[in-house]
Amino acid sequence: MIEVKHLTKSYGRQLALSDVSFELKEGDILGFLGPNGAGKSTTMNIITGYLSADQGTAVINGYDILEEPMKAKKHIGYLPEIPPLYGDMTVRKYLEFVFRLKKIRMPMKEHIDKVCEMVSITDVSERIIKHLSKGYRQRVGFAQALIGDPPVLILDEPTVGLDPVQIIEIRSLIKRLGKNHTVILSSHLLSEVQAVCDKIIIINNGRIMAEGTMDSFTRSGRDTRRLTIIAEGREQQLYSLLRNIDKVTKVEKLGEREKGCWEFAVSSSGDVRRAVYRRLASSDCNILTMKPEEQTLEETYISIISGKES
Ligand code: ADP
Ligand code: MG
Repeated sequence: MIEVKHLTKSYGRQLALSDVSFELKEGDILGFLGPNGAGKSTTMNIITGYLSADQGTAVINGYDILEEPMKAKKHIGYLPEIPPLYGDMTVRKYLEFVFRLKKIRMPMKEHIDKVCEMVSITDVSERIIKHLSKGYRQRVGFAQALIGDPPVLILDEPTVGLDPVQIIEIRSLIKRLGKNHTVILSSHLLSEVQAVCDKIIIINNGRIMAEGTMDSFTRSGRDTRRLTIIAEGREQQLYSLLRNIDKVTKVEKLGEREKGCWEFAVSSSGDVRRAVYRRLASSDCNILTMKPEEQTLEETYISIISGKES
């Protein structure tokens, strides 16, 4: 559906994107996650044909954005970071303007009515845009992206500047649209991507740092190199047994959990779960709990963007 191939882009001497590639299948809702300045808008502007890349290209539904920009653009609805609204127009006049600009060949009134219905702005369609709340203006932004029924929606930080209620409304709108569109949504908020997307790409300093399904992220967050262990015995004895296992780099005493049962945090340079089991069993120390430390998606994200991932 969308293939992004080796995008590289500099602004003068500032490298904004370096060899960014990814693919999206029909129906995917991709969260493009990264801090400010990571390169999200630059990537989106290239995919939508608003900016040229120094190297690489994007192919949308089989149409290369460089070779067949008109055809490629027909398949994309784009909501830029700052939606291109004309404040003095009514919602309907503005959407009619966008309709003509996109050279859509459908009955205009019906189509605009349908789009207004989709984003729940029918009630305000005769109002002047600048008199609308920010939440409604953002929906008008969605409406202009939906004119022409493009199968792909590219949404650049669509909830920035909205209040919490508006944010929830816009997120549920995105989820609804995600049922019959392929969506790329950029955000610097992990919670937003978690709430809406089923795939994530984490980008930082113009490079893709990680990508995968939401599930794979939560699972890879389980790090077997950090174990929490509760075992029965004397604290010092247990400590020494654990400390002397090959590949164990650090053992922290976390205290007595039940009578005669001690908790430890064990760090290691590899998976030591089997060795721990054998060592404690051979000294008649019962293991009551042994589990990999759970890393939340948030910790994973922070460790990735701060470059501390090991
Ligand atoms: P994001 O959308 O993730 O916040 P951007 O794609 O806007 O990131 O920016 C990526 C990098 O490119 C940043 O370092 C930013 O300062 C730089 N940049 C973006 N647009 C311009 C521009 N028009 N001129 C110069 N540098 C720019
Ligand atoms: Mg941006």
